[in-house]
Amino acid sequence: MKKNQAAKYSLLKPNIKSLSPVSDLMPLPVYRLHEIRDLTPTSYIMRFDRNNMEFKAGQHITLGLPGNNQLREYSIYSTEHDPYLEVLIKEVEKGMVSKSLHKCRLGDFLSVDGPFGFFTLDENNLGKKNLFIGTGTGIAPFHSMAGSYPALDYSILHGVRTTDETYESSFYPTERYISCTSRDDKGKFKGRVTDYIRKNPVGSETIVYLCGNVEMIYEVYDILVSQHFPVDQIKTEVYF
Ligand SMILES: Cc1cc2nc3c(=O)[nH]c(=O)nc-3n(C[C@H](O)[C@H](O)[C@H](O)COP(=O)(O)OP(=O)(O)OC[C@H]3O[C@@H](n4cnc5c(N)ncnc54)[C@H](O)[C@@H]3O)c2cc1C
Repeated sequence: MKKNQAAKYSLLKPNIKSLSPVSDLMPLPVYRLHEIRDLTPTSYIMRFDRNNMEFKAGQHITLGLPGNNQLREYSIYSTEHDPYLEVLIKEVEKGMVSKSLHKCRLGDFLSVDGPFGFFTLDENNLGKKNLFIGTGTGIAPFHSMAGSYPALDYSILHGVRTTDETYESSFYPTERYISCTSRDDKGKFKGRVTDYIRKNPVGSETIVYLCGNVEMIYEVYDILVSQHFPVDQIKTEVYF
């Protein structure tokens, strides 16, 4: 197997570390729900107690209903400075957890564990140019990174089907946020994130962060390799 191919297939490995051995042994701490902010009929932000949790922007937690051992990973959407924790969730058709969490009421308790993961900004690269590429709710860790480090030099490529899925995009300076819409032409770019980087090759001095489904991540990876982009400057978070 060629070196770049071996690196590509190792992109899935980091999630293995996201499993929580503790949650199998003892009940998880519960966090009180303070707010549910609906962004579309099927996507929403949950805000709950932070309980002094220390985390780095880009990390995720596991979340579920107390007494139910079904936990799922969600990237932390809020920033390192916020007094609360937020996650951005999209209901998955026939999904067990993403749909049941949406039915919670204010004041309910949620089981939370974490933080987990290594999809974080490298301290040594904070002064460099960053390109964040996310599809759908894959923008969540970038929201946390951008809000936690306001001086960061970054651009976001957000792949969505239609512009109503550009979740709270006014949070980002206009020149830093590029929506790539595949099913309407109201975004900044009509097409997928992969079409965008084919047309706009990524400079070799950039650090690239990819978050979302594995097909997008593999496809972007292949395009970057074809553009002779250094693969050790690519970080990934695979959602499904
Ligand atoms: C590190 C990490 C961070 C994540 N962060 C987020 C986040 O910030 N926001 C968020 O909404 N989700 C996030 N996810 C996905 C999330 O953990 C769940 O997989 C998702 O909410 C579906 O859970 P469910 O119980 O509703 O569906 P399940 O009952 O577990 O799955 C139902 C089916 O849907 C498929 N599926 C799972 N996720 C998706 C999806 N997103 N789109 C389409 N099909 C899917 C599954 O493969 C399965 O076939 C993250 C995943 C990982 C690994």
